[in-house]
Amino acid sequence: MTVKKPKIVVLGAGYGGLVTVTRLQKALSVDEANIVLVNKNDYHYETTWLHEASAGTLHHDRVRYDVDSVINRSKVEFIRAEVQDIKPDEKKVILNTGEVEYDYLVVALGGEAETFGIEGLKEHAFTISNVNTARQLRDHIDYQFATYALEEDKKDERLTIVVGGAGFTGIEFLGELANRVPELCKEYDIDYSKVRIYCVEAAPMVLPGFDPELVKYAVALLEKKGVEFKIGTPIKGATPEGIIVAKGETETEEIKAGTVVWAAGVRGSSIIEKSGIENMRARVKVNPDLRAPNQEDIFVIGDCSLMINEEINRPYPPTAQISMQQGETVARNIVKLLKGEGDLETFTPDIKGTVCSLGDDDAIGVVFDKKLTGTKASFMKKMIDNRALFMIGGPSLVLKKGKFNVL
Ligand SMILES: Cc1cc2nc3c(=O)[nH]c(=O)nc-3n(C[C@H](O)[C@H](O)[C@H](O)COP(=O)(O)OP(=O)(O)OC[C@H]3O[C@@H](n4cnc5c(N)ncnc54)[C@H](O)[C@@H]3O)c2cc1C
Repeated sequence: MTVKKPKIVVLGAGYGGLVTVTRLQKALSVDEANIVLVNKNDYHYETTWLHEASAGTLHHDRVRYDVDSVINRSKVEFIRAEVQDIKPDEKKVILNTGEVEYDYLVVALGGEAETFGIEGLKEHAFTISNVNTARQLRDHIDYQFATYALEEDKKDERLTIVVGGAGFTGIEFLGELANRVPELCKEYDIDYSKVRIYCVEAAPMVLPGFDPELVKYAVALLEKKGVEFKIGTPIKGATPEGIIVAKGETETEEIKAGTVVWAAGVRGSSIIEKSGIENMRARVKVNPDLRAPNQEDIFVIGDCSLMINEEINRPYPPTAQISMQQGETVARNIVKLLKGEGDLETFTPDIKGTVCSLGDDDAIGVVFDKKLTGTKASFMKKMIDNRALFMIGGPSLVLKKGKFNVL
């Protein structure tokens, strides 16, 4: 009698999904399990580099690599498809190309932009979400500069760029933009003084949670490069002409802009909401072993998961760092379940630090409790980027895709 092999299905080839699969393919033989990876594209993209591709400071091909280059196809079946739904009661996943059944499921589908119901944002603002949005935003900004000299219509707004959100993504994008805009001005014979770059943020501060001294450094640097901050200014809506912001208690003001980028919110995957798995804003408050509540065979990791930092009683921010660590734990927990090796491991994030880039040549950060700015921080950022490549694809991937333009 042949025993049916357990089937492990991993959804998403991002940071969390690929770490899970690369660890599982190492830990299990072909006789022990069927491992299936499902992803929309046949490539993985470095989400943490998308602000560079979006501003045009890094080509979009630099931020992605083939899934095939890091998985062992003799052990892992790769299905290129879009996940449309998860049916926990039937233990199956609905794809745009069919269905796939599972014994164990790992949901690692990443996050989606959260627009908090602000009118017009979905229709009129760009987001920094994947390779396609990055390419579209870069081309749009280029188009605005290229068209400036040719058309009189809406001339001044063409060169106004609004970035909604002074969190991590917004500030990293502004850092790239502030370096890219002078290049665009030179390329299209435009006087730099014609360009306006606004950062509009509802909260009363930039980079909440970051060390105030480092935030001061970042703001001063970006202001010096021409970024104008409008802090404590909620965006009320977006239109084809620009954005509407609050002015005082009751009034509003229009900022006309040729480019509006929304970088102020992330939620989990809409697939989670659709599936009926218990969630808050599409994120699952996972058990300590990373399983979804009341689901023995579903693990949720990365931006789809929600974990509370008990020290401050607030959720951990969604990061690649945590996603990858969760991938390692989930792989070990699945192996334990398959081999009947007792209690599952409890996941505790090990936060080594955070570095926020301010363009290719500058950054701010805290690493191992040490504050860094300038070239030291920028060097550290590149090392962190290279480490993510190393964790998934080893030294060969670092050599192929790594950042070595160290200052
Ligand atoms: C500009 C920017 C800068 C950032 N900088 C940092 C940083 O410096 N440090 C840090 O730690 N974090 C950073 N983050 C956050 C970090 O990128 C995320 O927390 C991380 O990518 C989440 O990893 P994940 O595994 O959950 O999903 P992801 O890595 O985003 O991967 C999700 C995968 O699922 C696939 N997918 C999604 N939906 C479907 C579907 N329906 N069907 C099939 N496939 C699907 C996607 O194509 C993708 O491959 C940054 C984010 C942004 C946007």
